[in-house]
Amino acid sequence: MKSPTRNLFAFLILLIINIPLAGNEETQSLSGFSPKSSAWELSFERQLTATLKPENAEIQLRRLSGRPHRTGTEGARITAEYIKDQLISFGLPAEIQTYIAYLPAPLTVSIELVAPVSEVIPTTEDRLDGDEFTDAVADHPGWDGYSPSGEATGEVVYAGHGSESEFKQIQLEGIDLKGKIVLMRYFGTGEGTKVRNAERYGAAGVVLYSDPQEDGYRYGDVYPKGDWRPAGAIMRRSILGLPYDGDPLSPGFASTENAKRLRPEDVSFPKIPILPISYRSAERILNLLDGPVAPHFMQGDLPLPYKLGSGPAKLHIKTVMDNRDRPILNVMSRIEGETEPDQWIIVGNHHDAWIYGAGDPSSGTASLLEFARGLGELMKQGFRPKRTLILAFWDAEEMLLGGSTEWVEHHKEELLEKAVACINMDSSVFNTERPLSVNASPVLHKLFRETSRNIKDPKTGKTIFEVWRDMQNQYKNTPSVDGWGDFFDPNQELKEPWIFESPSDDAAPFFNILALPASDMYYGADYGMYHSIYENFHWMKTVVDPTFKYHIAMALMQGFVSLRLANADVIPLDYAGEASYWRKAFNKLQAQSKTIPQYQKAIQLIDLWEKEAKAFEYESNRMLLKQKAPDRDLSKKVYMVARDFYRPGGLPGAQLEHNLWSGSDGILPGIAGALEKKDAKLLQSESNFYVQALRKRIRSLRTLRSRL
Ligand SMILES: [Zn+2]
Repeated sequence: MKSPTRNLFAFLILLIINIPLAGNEETQSLSGFSPKSSAWELSFERQLTATLKPENAEIQLRRLSGRPHRTGTEGARITAEYIKDQLISFGLPAEIQTYIAYLPAPLTVSIELVAPVSEVIPTTEDRLDGDEFTDAVADHPGWDGYSPSGEATGEVVYAGHGSESEFKQIQLEGIDLKGKIVLMRYFGTGEGTKVRNAERYGAAGVVLYSDPQEDGYRYGDVYPKGDWRPAGAIMRRSILGLPYDGDPLSPGFASTENAKRLRPEDVSFPKIPILPISYRSAERILNLLDGPVAPHFMQGDLPLPYKLGSGPAKLHIKTVMDNRDRPILNVMSRIEGETEPDQWIIVGNHHDAWIYGAGDPSSGTASLLEFARGLGELMKQGFRPKRTLILAFWDAEEMLLGGSTEWVEHHKEELLEKAVACINMDSSVFNTERPLSVNASPVLHKLFRETSRNIKDPKTGKTIFEVWRDMQNQYKNTPSVDGWGDFFDPNQELKEPWIFESPSDDAAPFFNILALPASDMYYGADYGMYHSIYENFHWMKTVVDPTFKYHIAMALMQGFVSLRLANADVIPLDYAGEASYWRKAFNKLQAQSKTIPQYQKAIQLIDLWEKEAKAFEYESNRMLLKQKAPDRDLSKKVYMVARDFYRPGGLPGAQLEHNLWSGSDGILPGIAGALEKKDAKLLQSESNFYVQALRKRIRSLRTLRSRL
């Protein structure tokens, strides 16, 4: 039900700003809104659009990325305080919530060639004329999170992306990995997995780099001319390799001040030293390798034949780390809903960066702060969201998804009752030449596509929807860092934008631990500055988004999606659309294995689910067309349907994951995991379990419809 103040406000807005309605918007009805509330919401969105200013986003980014702000450092504390003060100055409530996490930090690192020549390998990046931020390269050597302190000397073996099959290949060639230093590329295999593989084969140390094949000159000009990785850039990553996120010492529970946490020696951290280098240094080392030529699938883009070794290149690496407990600081702002305060939409970003983080994450922080400012402005004029918005600026994302995971663990029961969705934006813009990337629960896909039709692309004036889809069609055959092109048929023209089926970054704990609808996004998934010192304000201003208009477009994307969830008459979660993803996933697993018990039954039930969901949608649209307000408790019933796929006991072999749709074993993790393990008994019981869950989904939808 809409409050009189809001109606009056809408009326005033239309009078005051008098922006002519675009032809399609005049009659456009938003999913989950009555025609009258649609018109209100769209006019509110236009008002918000007019309020947000690129120059403010620029000022925010200049300040946020002006100093290094890695989690656990003084820079991160100042940043958290700054965000809190800004929110308060916008007229919004704000507080810092603290947890503890076992966090890594470097003291000194070094790496040198000791044979066949003696030579120091740089641990710092190149200073560039004109980019003042690179004056500080010496203060920020390359290092990887959760490397232990250690020292190793050994001949080098090249192991590609460090997958199991690559290590097997090395063994087939008769190369012994014991005591060796393994040179591997980032990407391809999980960073934790490749280091664990190297440990398992007896390696003494690991050196990592990003090959130009992944994010270098293969794709375009390198920085400072373009957006791709220069030869001297070093990528930093956190290499934890544990089966859970968040503080390593508090698996499954919040690391509050009095929590009884594990001791570091009880956790299986990486045991051998790990160091990252640039691809210029990797080329130097690869040039000094002999032995068999690596197979085609292990070759990269550097101008030389990649050989496996071992040696004659021999490295000495040394890491001295200061890994210990440090506070993590989430900045939270709760904007109480006017009529449904106990229904929450979490609107997230993280504020910690590897160094300056002008792309990851501060572009997203700048966007979310400008959205918050706009919201504050409109609230001064009387606006209140119908449901509660929780703006969250997480800490410790880069090392372990720390702030979000601890908060989710801390508020688990309450979130299962109250959370509608988490709409996260890790970073707002990396590369405007590459398509927007949205990673979301299938139940949110329709909302994202619909919202993108109401936001203008800054460069072309087309809608974000059109540019997003067209750019995906343009780039779908280009190899990509993200690998998104692998997910659909390259020969088929996309009619609407492709969206990933599982969110990542700080949306992941909401999605994996609580099976909540969750999403993450950024403009331009592929770029080459990731986690290097070049990801700074100068890069953003000269290469990526000089006008800061994309910062605003993305602030609107995150803002509109969140506000539509907050203000809708019937929360627009697309259960009918979700059914089609399940059907596709079941069909895919069956096509691969031909062995899923109850496969036919599952498909029948998914068909029925889709029918029920469409019937609910049809009836609720009819109700909304009559301008009839739904029962107040209907919206809670709508979002609680998502809990059908929350598995209280956890997934088999992954007790801390609870999402039946997606997990570390992939899509439909219960079934996919059983197939992977070739465990027929487990496959049978998991198939039964999924059939039960599908029946539950049908019952929930029937109950929902009966409430209309
Ligand atoms: Zn990030």
